[in-house]
Amino acid sequence: MSQIFRFLGGLVIVNSKSKHVFCDGIKQIERSYSLATVSLQRNKNYSTQISKREYDVVVVGGGIVGAASARELKLRHPQLKMAILEKEGEMAKHQSGHNSGVIHAGIYYKPGSLKAKLCVEGLQLMYKYCDEKNIPYKKVGKLIVATNEVEVKRLADLHQRAIQNKVPDIKILNGVKEIQQVEPHCVGLQALWSPHTGIIDYRLVTKQYGEDFKEKGGEIHLNFQVSGFENSTDNNYPVLIKSADGKRVKSKYVLTCGGLHSDKLAELSGCPRNPRIVPFRGEYLLLKPEKAAMIKGNIYPVPDPRFPFLGVHFTPRMDGSVWLGPNAVLAFKREGYTWTDVNFSELLDALFYPGFLKLAFKYVFAGAEETVKSLFPSLQVRQLQRFVPSITSADVVSGPAGVRAQALDAEGNLIEDFVFDMYKGSDNDSIGSRVLHCRNAPSPGATSSLAIAKMMVEKLESEFQYIKESP
Ligand SMILES: Cc1cc2nc3c(=O)[nH]c(=O)nc-3n(C[C@H](O)[C@H](O)[C@H](O)COP(=O)(O)OP(=O)(O)OC[C@H]3O[C@@H](n4cnc5c(N)ncnc54)[C@H](O)[C@@H]3O)c2cc1C
Repeated sequence: MSQIFRFLGGLVIVNSKSKHVFCDGIKQIERSYSLATVSLQRNKNYSTQISKREYDVVVVGGGIVGAASARELKLRHPQLKMAILEKEGEMAKHQSGHNSGVIHAGIYYKPGSLKAKLCVEGLQLMYKYCDEKNIPYKKVGKLIVATNEVEVKRLADLHQRAIQNKVPDIKILNGVKEIQQVEPHCVGLQALWSPHTGIIDYRLVTKQYGEDFKEKGGEIHLNFQVSGFENSTDNNYPVLIKSADGKRVKSKYVLTCGGLHSDKLAELSGCPRNPRIVPFRGEYLLLKPEKAAMIKGNIYPVPDPRFPFLGVHFTPRMDGSVWLGPNAVLAFKREGYTWTDVNFSELLDALFYPGFLKLAFKYVFAGAEETVKSLFPSLQVRQLQRFVPSITSADVVSGPAGVRAQALDAEGNLIEDFVFDMYKGSDNDSIGSRVLHCRNAPSPGATSSLAIAKMMVEKLESEFQYIKESP
């Protein structure tokens, strides 16, 4: 009889005493891009050749979660021979390189949840890490703005939640005058002000994690699309990892952090397909450059608790542009960044999944509204005018998009927390017993990446004695 081991979450350490993180007011920390540029250039040297084919631990997926976890494991156990296998020609090609770039403070998440703890801890670790590595960020802060009485009540609940989550220095601003001291063009009845929310380029962060990993002796193999796990004939390296184009690598243990493909990777080692990943595209509009100076920091709506996403927001970017969005529409392909990106097998897979059908039924009107807004961006602008009335359709152009890997259970519930999965066959020698999958790392996964990595490594150490005992 097969056993399937699935467990949620893990250990969390909240370092509430970090001295490096917090500054007063809207202090903007801007750093020269030079070091970051050097780092990107060095990334060109990433290997696309498999030089050594045997590893103690292989991490599949070169997004921010895979890279952070590989780095943390290598730092803690330098003797482990390790590699990251990434199917694309660069790191952070998908979610980690296509997101809002916000360093979240931990306001929204259910008190006591892993998301809340890892986000608050992750923010502190992120700022400290970026200071050490000279990765540029800006602590521009964030306003969550209530524009009617219902939202004012919800904002009060959110404030309480943020306090319970120990988000530092948040405060309520009353009336337009106080709001406009922070955001001169913003209106609202009340707003929750979070001064330590920041912005960053997570692609740079991911690449720096990769550099740290390589400096400690780890290898990164790009253009390696994992297509199967098999038993190898080598007892020392029992897992054979195959690529779609015939490459082979052997390993003692494997961690997968496959983002939009995490369910497929889990299935490859014997785990069930569910929770299934359903891809939801988030499309952004761009404020025209001549209007960008109007927006100083992040401006968010008060989230409607009936819906899973945060709502369209104003997000300044590190390059000075301002993104507006994202919305949430079904992507017709796991990595479908436009309406014309279609993969019929992946689309049918989503459409016939009972979990998706139940979700679609639950949110039929909201889903239709999001689709219409995607096709008619002026409707999205109307939503944004609630906060910044002087913005018009003439001030925006279409922008980029990202695709969220949304794990969905068969009942149609969106899975909020991290999910690890591991398949153990009838004996402990099965491949599945050596492959740990991270099946769900939703937003704020990028903010939390260093905290997630600690948790992930603790999970690996608790599952695999060999790793725990390795120097
Ligand atoms: C629109 C959007 C906005 C967001 N905004 C924020 C934000 O502001 N702040 C925040 O903290 N978080 C945000 N997030 C969430 C954050 O981006 C994710 O939580 C995080 O990037 C997840 O990282 P990952 O490494 O798990 O996934 P990914 O970055 O998707 O990485 C997975 C990697 O695995 C690789 N892979 C998949 N299958 C295989 C295979 N078979 N073989 C080899 N490689 C494979 C992929 O190519 C990919 O590089 C946002 C996400 C989206 C989509």
